[in-house]
Amino acid sequence: MEITIIYDNTAFDPFLVPAWGFSCLIRHKESTLLFDTGAEGALLLSNMEKLGIEPESVDTVVLSHPHFDHIGGLENFLAQNSRAKVYFPDTGAPNMHSRATLIRESQELAPGIHTTGVLSFIEQSLVVEISNGVALISGCAHPGLKNILDAASNYGEVKAIVGGLHDFTDFHLLRDMDLICPTHCTFYMNQLQEMFPETYLQGGAGRKIHLD
Ligand SMILES: [Zn+2]
Ligand SMILES: [Zn+2]
Repeated sequence: MEITIIYDNTAFDPFLVPAWGFSCLIRHKESTLLFDTGAEGALLLSNMEKLGIEPESVDTVVLSHPHFDHIGGLENFLAQNSRAKVYFPDTGAPNMHSRATLIRESQELAPGIHTTGVLSFIEQSLVVEISNGVALISGCAHPGLKNILDAASNYGEVKAIVGGLHDFTDFHLLRDMDLICPTHCTFYMNQLQEMFPETYLQGGAGRKIHLD
């Protein structure tokens, strides 16, 4: 599978524009899935264009949680895409698109791609099957990474993590991972890099990650 970070607080690729928020594209098996949409639709679409990603190529859109920096680009994106299935977490928030299906429980959303279900009434994360376990894709990790890892491990050992980790500090939980790419709202990026120099990967818009 391949993950491309489209929208992030920092830019890994200097041709992309950074801004507070998160969005990434996941290509896995026959699916092309957009996870979160950043804060601003125009910037999401221009970063996608620079990365050569056609909006209409996306077949599934998953929103992690209803905060502006993750759902702000949704309207603009859907104006360019007439076919994608849209999955929104059922948090009780009224902010919901007419094309969206509400998600509460853990389930498969596309072949080999699962949602943890909504945790702590706020957020869902993605769990993608890879050869030696699963990869976890996180928006902000508001429910706490420990809870998210527990939910994800129902689908296999978590070997990789990409996305926002917020104020997570239980660093030992990441000991056995092959890849750690904390980005977006992660508070302790420097500490993670120091603790895990072998497996830490710098995030940012334009970063591409391949996992077998
Ligand atoms: Zn948030
Ligand atoms: Zn966020």
